[in-house]
Amino acid sequence: AKCSFGESFQEGKIVPYADFEISPCSSVLNYGQGLYEGLKAYRTEDDRIILFRPDQNGLRLQAGADRLCMPYPSVEQFVSAIKQVVLANKKWIPPPGKGALYLRPLLFGSGPILGSLPVPEFNFTVFACPVGRYHKDNSGLNLKIEDKVRRAFSSGTGGVKSITNYSPVWITMIEAKKQGFSDVLFLDAATGKNVEELFAANVFIVKGNVVTTPELSGTILAGITRKCVIELASDFGYKVEERVVPVEDLIDAEEVFCTGTAAIVTNIASVTFKDKKTEFKNGEGTLASKLFKTLVDIQTGRVEDTKGWTVEIDQC
Ligand code: PMP
Repeated sequence: AKCSFGESFQEGKIVPYADFEISPCSSVLNYGQGLYEGLKAYRTEDDRIILFRPDQNGLRLQAGADRLCMPYPSVEQFVSAIKQVVLANKKWIPPPGKGALYLRPLLFGSGPILGSLPVPEFNFTVFACPVGRYHKDNSGLNLKIEDKVRRAFSSGTGGVKSITNYSPVWITMIEAKKQGFSDVLFLDAATGKNVEELFAANVFIVKGNVVTTPELSGTILAGITRKCVIELASDFGYKVEERVVPVEDLIDAEEVFCTGTAAIVTNIASVTFKDKKTEFKNGEGTLASKLFKTLVDIQTGRVEDTKGWTVEIDQC
């Protein structure tokens, strides 16, 4: 996606997207004191603009900031910045059915530090770019269960959207893509026996009437889509469990899918663990396809939002 255009929120106001100065001594550059968020604005058929649960992103950013010892914007300030960026980039919001305007809020330590403790200076920036579907392949993802590199350590930062969680696992993504996989599924660091999540999506398994997802034990990101899917699956009459999920349970499932702002709800067609491939139910008739449709209909304003999940942006 091309991001270097349009308007951004920088230093408390809307400005044309541009590079900014940062001290070589800043805590983000030296120690990785930074967080990001991701959310989408959709244009509806009747030309309204809606956001999906932006308050949840604001709250998650605050939890991350507490963990990384950073001051943070209030949820009101956060949502207001998002709305300003969306309005300033209104013409870039794709037409209904053609994608969304992706918003990327950043919160990072900009204060100079070479010593041991950060100073409370921070930068809150939001930039935007139009996006289509994240996983282009509609036929389901083929995942590699990563057997060597772990994503998150107990009591580390896996539970927050720290920028430092992502680059250490690129090495696995690059290798997996080279081998023809779509994404990687990570195992827990403590035992290497239980599934946690993908590079940027949560995972669910379905067996009979039971939908299971790894519990939030501090090493998994509390996905906003995950939270919605737990609620929707239970509305659909499924029993939803949040618990430790051993790899064997996943391999034994009938259906597997992942959730995220980018992925929405996407079927996993297969997983490969230690060179052994297992395939799952995929496509039409899956719970994932029903959840996908339900969520997209709410997110794009095609059905009435009885959940109170959408926030309409006042365009006047
Ligand atoms: N896990 C990780 C590691 C992520 O980066 C994301 C994307 N934010 C998710 C899960 C899904 O979260 P959400 O549904 O809030 O996008």
